[in-house]
Amino acid sequence: MSEDKLRFDNRVVVITGAGGGLGKMYAHYFASRGASLVINDYGVSLKGESASSSAADKVVSEIISAGGRAVANYDSVEDGENIIKTAMDSFGRVDVLINNAGILRDKSFIKSTDRDWDLVCQVHLNGAFKVTHAAWPIFRAQKFGRVINTTSPAGIYGNFGQASYSAAKHALIAFSDTLSQEGSKYNILVNCISPIAASRLTETTMPPEILKVLDPKYVVPIVAYLSHESTSATGGLYETAGGYINSIRWELSKGAVFKPDSSFTPAAVKSRYSEITDFTSGNKYPDFKHGVDYLGLMKQAMTQSS
Ligand code: NAD
Repeated sequence: MSEDKLRFDNRVVVITGAGGGLGKMYAHYFASRGASLVINDYGVSLKGESASSSAADKVVSEIISAGGRAVANYDSVEDGENIIKTAMDSFGRVDVLINNAGILRDKSFIKSTDRDWDLVCQVHLNGAFKVTHAAWPIFRAQKFGRVINTTSPAGIYGNFGQASYSAAKHALIAFSDTLSQEGSKYNILVNCISPIAASRLTETTMPPEILKVLDPKYVVPIVAYLSHESTSATGGLYETAGGYINSIRWELSKGAVFKPDSSFTPAAVKSRYSEITDFTSGNKYPDFKHGVDYLGLMKQAMTQSS
């Protein structure tokens, strides 16, 4: 085992939904490595109901008893500016933001209601927006910031019964990508993790023997690394569970280039559809940074014969 040398002295870390599950694990780690913590938790049920202050208070008192520094905040992430205000009022700065709060309202799409959709999007997506938007000017002014957004396998691959959750979680990947591009010149690095861990979120969905190896403590190392001042990683997407970590990127087929004239018809698409979707001879990992080089392709198309 290599020694953990990452320290967070003089750093202020804000963690949403830190009253339980993964957020609580992160909080204990950062506090034990010298950081001051804002423990945000709305204290709601899995479905996002019956708010209470007790979850955040409990974690704060555990951290303080262990000799650490932490304050509680009980706002919903939908009121993100209050969470960042707590950090500024208590510690005068904010360095790391971990957007972790979450709820589930799983139902097959046909049974989903407007309220299910709105609540899930408000907490996961609007919540991450509100807290990050409040922290962003502070990060820019101090030329330092680390943001971790939390997606899910459902947000990457989709999952039965999770239309709202997977839509909100997928949006967080694009949110991270854009913020990583806007933030990099200010040393604001933004990454996205997709964890799997035993918590109240998963306790009824997986067998106990699997849950045993999915201790939330195994999600901490990648989150801590991506939050540290020494990292240069940004715009990444990482799956992590039970000691496994990977990195995900898009795969592109090579695609087909058509001359943009009257020969470019639906029938032409039909005749070359297998070429369009052929990943075997493809441009698997683009060497350009932000997607397809459309200008280059247009030039190629103009010189093609119909
Ligand atoms: P959890 O239910 O144990 O913890 C989530 C916490 O968020 C709770 O303490 C809850 O009170 C709080 N919360 C809910 N709504 C809030 C709001 N509006 N404002 C502030 N706090 C709020 O869940 P967890 O398993 O620790 O999940 C943490 C994050 O990881 C979530 O975003 C979840 O979607 C994601 N995730 C977890 C898993 C997993 O396997 N556990 C898998 C994929 C993604």
